[in-house]
Amino acid sequence: MKHKIAIAGAGFAGAVLARELVETGDFQVTVFDERDHIAGNCFTKRDDETGILLHQYGPHIFNTSRKDVWDYVNRWSEFVPFVNRVKAVTREGVFSMPINLLTINQYFKKKMNPQEAEDFLKNLSKKNISEPQNFEEQALKFLGSALYKSFFYGYTKKQWGVEPQELPASILKRLPVRFNYDDNYYNQKYQGLPVEGYTPIVQKILKHDDIEVRLKQKFKPQEKDLYHHVFWSGPIDSYFEFKLGRLRYRTLKFEKFVAQGDFQGNPVINYCEAEVPYTRITEHKHFSPWETHEKTVCFKEYSDFAKPEDTPYYPLRLPEDLTLLKKYVELAEQENKVTFIGRLGTYRYLDMHVVIGESLDLAKVCLSKNISDWPSFSQSPL
Ligand code: UDP
Repeated sequence: MKHKIAIAGAGFAGAVLARELVETGDFQVTVFDERDHIAGNCFTKRDDETGILLHQYGPHIFNTSRKDVWDYVNRWSEFVPFVNRVKAVTREGVFSMPINLLTINQYFKKKMNPQEAEDFLKNLSKKNISEPQNFEEQALKFLGSALYKSFFYGYTKKQWGVEPQELPASILKRLPVRFNYDDNYYNQKYQGLPVEGYTPIVQKILKHDDIEVRLKQKFKPQEKDLYHHVFWSGPIDSYFEFKLGRLRYRTLKFEKFVAQGDFQGNPVINYCEAEVPYTRITEHKHFSPWETHEKTVCFKEYSDFAKPEDTPYYPLRLPEDLTLLKKYVELAEQENKVTFIGRLGTYRYLDMHVVIGESLDLAKVCLSKNISDWPSFSQSPL
């Protein structure tokens, strides 16, 4: 008899895991999702009016250094090489982002080589910070106050809704600072975009005789006992009906508009000034540069604290959230037959390639153990 498994959430975390399990022939999986579509926040869809492929929940550019993850996604779709080159609008003008030699030379009106630029920034950096304790200190130590104020202070305040001093340094460490002219937003070995978007990938992953997908249906934890095991990729606090309080998230709101031709000449332009209410504008046809469209569709992106009815995006993970998270982790560890997975299940700021990698790893762990010994988490949330 096949083991019956329920997976809450039809995003990458749940879909990859479902597939890895059923391919052994030992499992029958039901995937639940409260939304009316699969693929979670990676959902892509062609626009009815223009035919342009839209990243409905904001831009997702696939980048990874894990060969197994890259091979895995390429098994389901052709990927077109794509380098994300972001531009940033500041009070001083339009610059290349992440900070690189062109940004530094243009911003300071210099003609420095790599070593000169590095020495120049070292001179500007705040000397009395040895171990940066927060986002602001990290920026002041490695960039100095002028670049921090122009590129990071306003954007980060808008994005996170708190002073950068309150945020961990790890958020800024996501972004490289380069003393050469490489303006690739990412450092990873493999980078590309699926030719028809992410939805067909998740569709193919889920298309298997032993996987049933139930959309517009939230998995109810009370129904756990109908299954041998449950994987939960929804918010960890929602599994426990928020009984200890709510973990905080930032949500995004998109203001969509259609224009003729080319609106901004680039897929992503960040607006770093605090006075501009949105953080960035994304122009979606530039994510499919191999296609031709007369019209263009753009999203202005606004960030806000997520209310209960909003879609959660970025876990806030400030000290008070982590205190509450610890308590939920204790509850989760006492809950038998459930594994919490993915960005929401483990309340971590994860990119999709990390989620896919963790689901592949988790499947290996599970398949090497007795079902009663499956872990409580794909990775520790703390
Ligand atoms: N950031 C910024 N200005 C920019 C781009 C990024 O201040 O023009 C900050 C912001 O706080 C953001 C962090 O750097 O959360 C990491 O950037 P990343 O692009 O990784 O954020 P993502 O949009 O992927 O969450």
